[in-house]
Amino acid sequence: MTERIYYYDSFKQEFVADIIDNFVEDDKYHIRLNKTAFYPEGGGQPADQGSIGESYISHVYELNGKIFHVADKLPEEKSGLECKIDWERRFDLMQQHSGQHLLSAVTKDLCQAETVGFHLGESSLTIDTDIRLSQEEIDTIETKCNQFIYENREISIEYPGGDKDDIRIVKIKGLDRNPCGGTHLKSTG
Ligand SMILES: [Zn+2]
Repeated sequence: MTERIYYYDSFKQEFVADIIDNFVEDDKYHIRLNKTAFYPEGGGQPADQGSIGESYISHVYELNGKIFHVADKLPEEKSGLECKIDWERRFDLMQQHSGQHLLSAVTKDLCQAETVGFHLGESSLTIDTDIRLSQEEIDTIETKCNQFIYENREISIEYPGGDKDDIRIVKIKGLDRNPCGGTHLKSTG
């Protein structure tokens, strides 16, 4: 099993890992590591990019509980590989993803609208709600979100089951608790 560094340290940008498995498909190498800070696409959050040794990682995905890093070539070494996340991209995605938690929580609080879907893209984030919102409601939601951002509320992770493989709750202090496996910032600011 691969240790998921991003679960307990979403700010890890560089780490050292060993290749435990790989296969080739369409000239791309799908690499498994003994541990990884690369976030695999899932839960609405796009995958990380970066490098493993001298290989460029263009995509990361999870299949049957296994995390695969898609590389342009296979690193010559199999162990002690320096791995790096494209941090500018990941930090932007974390900002958007944490923003989505905040926006969904405030939308529910103020207008009883449930978020039924969201899309996190390279440059924008949208949420889908189960009811239609008026412009006035949207303005109120925006003001409230900004207030929470100014207050710089703490964002934390909890495992109510006590086990790290158990349900993972993302908490915005005094506002929201939501199960999520994604990567988040440490505060709303
Ligand atoms: Zn999340």
